[in-house]
Amino acid sequence: MKVLVLGAGQLARMMALAGAPLSITISAYDVNTDTLVHPLTQQQLGSGLAQALEAADVVTAEFEHIPLAILEQCQASGKFLPGASAIRAGGDRRVEKALLASAGVANAAYQVINNQADFEKAVSRLGLPLIFKSALAGYDGKGQWRLKEAAQTASVWQQMADFLAADSSQAIVAEQFIGFQREVSLVGARSRTGEVKVYPLTENHHVNGVLSVSLARPVDHALQHQAEQMFAAVAEQLDYVGVLAIEFFDVAGQLLVNEIAPRVHNSGHWTQQGADCCQFANHLRAVCGLPLGSTALVRPTLMVNILGEDEVPNAILNIPALGLHWYGKTKRAGRKMGHINLSANSTAELKAQFAKLIDQLPASAFPELEQMLHQL
Ligand code: ATP
Ligand code: MG
Ligand code: MG
Repeated sequence: MKVLVLGAGQLARMMALAGAPLSITISAYDVNTDTLVHPLTQQQLGSGLAQALEAADVVTAEFEHIPLAILEQCQASGKFLPGASAIRAGGDRRVEKALLASAGVANAAYQVINNQADFEKAVSRLGLPLIFKSALAGYDGKGQWRLKEAAQTASVWQQMADFLAADSSQAIVAEQFIGFQREVSLVGARSRTGEVKVYPLTENHHVNGVLSVSLARPVDHALQHQAEQMFAAVAEQLDYVGVLAIEFFDVAGQLLVNEIAPRVHNSGHWTQQGADCCQFANHLRAVCGLPLGSTALVRPTLMVNILGEDEVPNAILNIPALGLHWYGKTKRAGRKMGHINLSANSTAELKAQFAKLIDQLPASAFPELEQMLHQL
């Protein structure tokens, strides 16, 4: 099978690695440059979307911020999974919030803001504190504002007014600020025949809006059940095919959906060594019409993102059950450059191994890990 992936980043790269044993070949389409590239070497293979669509058996995406015209062209090919409307639901927070409402899943109360009257309505109806998110193009906490105290109201509105004035396609979604205990996510797959398999809930730790550590270990059954019900409701509403990720806030054992990602997800990288079938293989199985693989937890596993660094001490490779993944990207401050997966036979052993890993990593590049170790 030949799969065309919209986007040429690390997720397309990891799909290519997972697809190889199944004889599924990936070509990656860079939507910004209109070129087709090899997902591992980034070597240019051609240009033009029409030709790439023609050559592909299946078309999918590694990210959601894709121009509408490209989504429509892919949809028209009849080969696009999970399809244009699912990708749009992940890429436009207005569409996403409407989807969550129609799927009947709990999420933060919100208000769409196009002008000052909407803003004032959001403040009076939802109350403070509030979080504001750009409707389009937001990721890693970018394009967000927070309003904690009434005294900041005018200056926060001014920043948002400037933002709205600069781009007429944009809007802002205001959300009630949720006082959550933890953030967790559920990554799962839905097949062409409607079969759903989900991985265990993963605990996520962010730093400055960017994922730093994900931890997968045996989870509370009630919480897992809640997440699975919500996952199934959203996936069915979208008639979804492929891997879907849902981020949740855990508020005293009640889950609220934060957002969805209609694709393989950073909080699912641990599945590369903590599950029999990783999220990348399961995504390809789903979109190619193959049976889904097991999503059961084989052993407790955590993932550490390598942000803005292009090297770590090679000696960490001496740690048993440690996997190091580089994405082959040019170094830039804060950029996702690679990740480390670490597994053990029990959560206690995983904590001990994590402590050993932290000792070997430069604290300057991973300042938050020590504190996270104590939260586990
Ligand atoms: P991602 O890279 O995960 O796609 P994003 O830029 O789309 O991120 P969100 O996940 O919506 O942004 O928000 C980033 C972080 O901000 C969340 O992980 C959470 O810590 C915090 N946050 C978002 N919405 C709320 C909310 N309503 N209440 C409290 N905290 C929130
Ligand atoms: Mg997001
Ligand atoms: Mg998020």
